[in-house]
Amino acid sequence: MILLNGKETAEAVKREIAEEVARMTSRGERPPHLAAVLVGDDGASKTYVANKEKACKAVGFNSTVLTFPDTISEAELLSVIDGLNNNDEVDGFIVQLPLPKHIDENKVINAVSPEKDVDGFHPVNVGRMSLGEDGFLPATPFGILTLLERYKIDTYGKHCVIMGRSNIVGRPMANLLSRKSYPGDCTVTVCHSHTRNIEEYTRSADIIIAAIGVPEFLKGDMVKEGAVVIDVGITRVPADTPKGYRILGDVEFSSVAPKCSYITPVPGGVGPMTIVSLMYNTFKARELKLKKQ
Ligand code: NAP
Repeated sequence: MILLNGKETAEAVKREIAEEVARMTSRGERPPHLAAVLVGDDGASKTYVANKEKACKAVGFNSTVLTFPDTISEAELLSVIDGLNNNDEVDGFIVQLPLPKHIDENKVINAVSPEKDVDGFHPVNVGRMSLGEDGFLPATPFGILTLLERYKIDTYGKHCVIMGRSNIVGRPMANLLSRKSYPGDCTVTVCHSHTRNIEEYTRSADIIIAAIGVPEFLKGDMVKEGAVVIDVGITRVPADTPKGYRILGDVEFSSVAPKCSYITPVPGGVGPMTIVSLMYNTFKARELKLKKQ
């Protein structure tokens, strides 16, 4: 079994981006600038945004975090987004999800300019991805593709079972892995909470991508020998640790790992790859803007 080390791979990609940024600034250009909008007081969201800020620093980007109380109205938030869309100093920005219940997430996602939508959530970018056109790919599936590519994992004609059909992970992942390209050319099955006898699908999979948010759902007896298993899940479960919790993936590592050819750990697998993909998209947004000037 080979561990797909997302942390190490992300560091390598970060070094490559940092070199590109150094080249950009040595030509007298300003570095890429990523802004993040954080609404409310959710601990996990704060951690994600802090990690993104840290990654920006590591690659030489400018970064800004705009924080708002969860009492912010939808109209106020939309006007913040309008400001970012029209701010020439900002190349890309993200609105950290989830948002408070009184705010329509779809409205917010639709308000982000597709040229600055480095999360790849805007319908224009989703459409471009579906058609195989150039755009911003959503960070988590993009990070998984990069991991498969860097480890040279064979995907041609493989049966890939994707557990979960969210707009940010499962659906785009299914789209990307069924593309006529590498990594891709898979025969994809998408499972969800209404799938009956899910283990019948997972047992026939060459590649499993687990993105359901149910800690340790996938067990060893649900996986065939030699499978590649990518664990996207991140769930905080109460634990006797200094932070009061620990992070669990969707895969029971102890029983699944011995059967795998490759597997991602949690933490240190998909998480760092997601962040580095956001960095890549922001760099790309800056480059596209420079080309237009
Ligand atoms: P989500 O929007 O809650 O979607 C979960 C999906 O899993 C849904 O499609 C749901 O089915 C399906 N599901 C739930 N329980 C199931 C079960 N018992 N059997 C089969 N399918 C089941 O979640 P998400 O945003 O995609 O995230 C999934 C997990 O990945 C979470 O733990 C999240 O924290 C993590 N995540 C990690 C990263 C990273 O960078 N590592 C990034 C994003 C998300 P229905 O559609 O039928 O409801």
